[in-house]
Amino acid sequence: ADSQKYTGIVEDCCCDYETVDSLNEEVLNPLLQELVTTPFFRYFKVKLWCDCPFWPDDGMCRLRDCSVCECEENEFPEIFKKPGRISSQDLVCQEGKPQATVDRTLDRKAFRGWVEIDNPWTSDDETDNAEMTYVNLQLNPERYTGYTGPSARRIWDAIYTENCPRYPSGEFCKEKKVLYKLISGLHSSISIHIAADYLLDEAANVWGKNLQLMYDRVLQYPDRVRNLYFTYLFVLRAVTKAADYLEQAEYDTGNPTEDLKTKSLMKQLLYNPKLQAACPIPFDEAKLWQGQSGPELKQQIQKQFRNISALMDCVGCEKCRLWGKLQVLGLGTALKILFSVDGQDHVDQHLQLQRNEVIALGNLLNRLSESVKLVRQMGPSAEKIMEGQ
Ligand code: FAD
Repeated sequence: ADSQKYTGIVEDCCCDYETVDSLNEEVLNPLLQELVTTPFFRYFKVKLWCDCPFWPDDGMCRLRDCSVCECEENEFPEIFKKPGRISSQDLVCQEGKPQATVDRTLDRKAFRGWVEIDNPWTSDDETDNAEMTYVNLQLNPERYTGYTGPSARRIWDAIYTENCPRYPSGEFCKEKKVLYKLISGLHSSISIHIAADYLLDEAANVWGKNLQLMYDRVLQYPDRVRNLYFTYLFVLRAVTKAADYLEQAEYDTGNPTEDLKTKSLMKQLLYNPKLQAACPIPFDEAKLWQGQSGPELKQQIQKQFRNISALMDCVGCEKCRLWGKLQVLGLGTALKILFSVDGQDHVDQHLQLQRNEVIALGNLLNRLSESVKLVRQMGPSAEKIMEGQ
């Protein structure tokens, strides 16, 4: 019965699950896997301090790397300021776990020359300052970190309840469902990566797949799997919609051989004949914001998304914060691309992306593509094992 679970057309898309799987495994995933190792895509600029604006005094972030800022009282929704029901035991910053920390082998100084070469997308908020870190993503894979308990739960709860409430009976408008599905799909992807690269034996430092966890958190909920596909196709649509912009973008890192490779891989991804033939419009964004309240709705959803992005500063585990920030920035970039349109529904000629946004977009697409592949490859055996128990 399970092989029947994900058949038919993916919601708001033009192709079915089987087509997405074969496109992903034969074409897109191999390209993306290579793309993220190129110098342009493997370094991400990020402020790793935990400037959590929502729960100012929970003692969660005592260490420098997750310190708390003092924000304007009226800047954030009241609901976030209520003290959480978190016991003092849980107030310990979870940074202490070695698997949760970020390897910063690459420091700012080593990177400086590269920054000067680059330019087209950097703006003031990208300016180097003492708080910015350049992280080699290849040295810091998204995987199990031990971050769990009330601190992690509180973030997901805030994301879902405050920003994209579950839609109970289809009464919510399409646009709000989209935001919910994007977040849920991202959440599925994070859980899949935790399960796919899990610390099975702490004492012996043995890492491997945890099929039980994959089943418990994602596979047993078909909606979560569907949302993962949805998010993947949404981001894929954004990337291909901005193809002309992304093709002409500057991928210079001062390493001509590598940079040529980056450009060539991008071209193969952006104008892929197999993708264009099998799934030309992976998500149909033209149907959104059509009604009278369109502009208002868009603003409201933008605000909610900004709140989600601010919540990433409250994640109490450095590596989770790194990937949380990157992926939310990637989603924000996809939203920006899809909804910066001119009257003809083409990408706005004035669309401007920062370098870091492009890096986030590429890496997010790769993470989602990996998750889709893992679900397809590991799903049936995980389900068999769990259902046999
Ligand atoms: P959680 O994953 O915390 O889920 C909480 C609740 O949300 C569930 O009980 C369920 O009701 C609902 N839910 C779960 N999945 C979905 C879905 N797909 N769609 C809709 N609703 C859902 N941990 C790591 O080990 N490595 C990481 O890299 C990492 N990154 C993180 C990044 C962020 C931004 C956050 C907030 C947390 C991260 N974590 C990471 C922690 C991890 O996501 C879990 O919170 C933690 O492992 C505890 O899991 P849980 O079983 O309590 O359920």
